[in-house]
Amino acid sequence: MRVTSPDWIIVGAGFTGAVLAERLASQAGRRVLVVDRRDHIAGNAYDYRGPWDILVHRYGPHIFHTNSKKIWDYLSRFTEWRPYFHHVVAHIDGKYAPIPFNLNTIEDLFPRRMAEAMTQGLIDTYGYGAKVPILRMREEGAEQLRYLADYIYRKVFENYTFKQWSLKPEELDPSVSARVPIHVSRDDRYFQDIYQAMPVDGYSAMFARILAHENITVSTSTEFEAVRGLYPGAKVVFTGPIDEYFKFEHGALPYRSLRFRLFERPGPEAQPVGTVNYPNEFDFTRITEFKHLTGQRADGTILIEEYPEAYVPGRNEPYYPIPTGDTAAALVPYQAMAHQLKGKVWFAGRLGDYAYYNMDQACGRALALFEKQLAVT
Ligand SMILES: Cc1cc2nc3c(=O)[nH]c(=O)nc-3n(C[C@H](O)[C@H](O)[C@H](O)COP(=O)(O)OP(=O)(O)OC[C@H]3O[C@@H](n4cnc5c(N)ncnc54)[C@H](O)[C@@H]3O)c2cc1C
Repeated sequence: MRVTSPDWIIVGAGFTGAVLAERLASQAGRRVLVVDRRDHIAGNAYDYRGPWDILVHRYGPHIFHTNSKKIWDYLSRFTEWRPYFHHVVAHIDGKYAPIPFNLNTIEDLFPRRMAEAMTQGLIDTYGYGAKVPILRMREEGAEQLRYLADYIYRKVFENYTFKQWSLKPEELDPSVSARVPIHVSRDDRYFQDIYQAMPVDGYSAMFARILAHENITVSTSTEFEAVRGLYPGAKVVFTGPIDEYFKFEHGALPYRSLRFRLFERPGPEAQPVGTVNYPNEFDFTRITEFKHLTGQRADGTILIEEYPEAYVPGRNEPYYPIPTGDTAAALVPYQAMAHQLKGKVWFAGRLGDYAYYNMDQACGRALALFEKQLAVT
């Protein structure tokens, strides 16, 4: 495959790569070649129409949420949205209780008097509306709150975290446990961001519009290696794994992978909410039902189970960078190598930065990189 000499090669057609391609093409008038080794665009946000026309997310459920008006406005040029507030319940001691753990969860799981006392204790200590990381609450506060924190730690957090990462919560970077705080409120929504929605026609349709610019050529099922030497003058943005780019010279960075099992059922919704977490039973962590996310009405339903597993290069996908102090240190020599390529190759995105980004963060990273560096290159 050869196209008229591009100014830029962008490796990866996920959020980071697609947004950068669009900016370079539309704002800087550059010719851009986007390659992706997968046979589709949209990276991990890829979706397709399954049975009953239901939109299925191949790489696990993706719910869009952001507090950034800038990111929201930018993406809104390429899609209409369906407002959607994600709800999650966890199966605990035979009951389904709302997650993140909040005042309603306490009422569902504890006898009335006890629940009232815990609620009052939380409000008095932290104030209504506070979000308290579980590890922090475990170390401080009155006995009753430590009891509650221990309960949540054991029933909700410990086994789920171990299944997800094969690590204990304490071994992870505190930013990870801070992602699942206790909410001192009755807000049952899984996210609290200002903007929460799903693209009406799905993510893949949104990506097709982002990339539909006359200056952009997209080549899927194409490895970076296949085009690397073809355009010596082109600058490169690499959104694949940074360690892979440098041929693992300083060893492989660790990732966590996932296996998905899709299954279908005839009939209406099979679950009360979008996602049910199973912290303590089964090998999978959670089941998500797509119809809740997309708001589609259909005679059947499609669900997805997620089985975390070790990442084995060549066998499965590198989904999550593993956020610990050790992995942060392992990244440093690669950042130094990337620095040597300054002005020729840029690294960005979940795999290029080796960072645990949500979709809006990947989009924000791309917009900022364009504005601060690439626009003037
Ligand atoms: C199970 C799961 C659920 C998630 N749920 C949410 C959610 O609900 N909300 C949310 O905001 N975020 C969610 N995320 C995070 C979201 O997927 C990421 O933020 C987003 O995918 C990052 O985009 P990216 O472009 O940086 O990376 P990616 O989407 O991974 O895109 C990188 C692309 O580069 C390609 N590539 C890599 N190396 C090469 C190479 N050498 N040659 C050619 N192509 C290459 C890959 O094939 C890939 O398509 C979830 C992630 C996972 C794993």
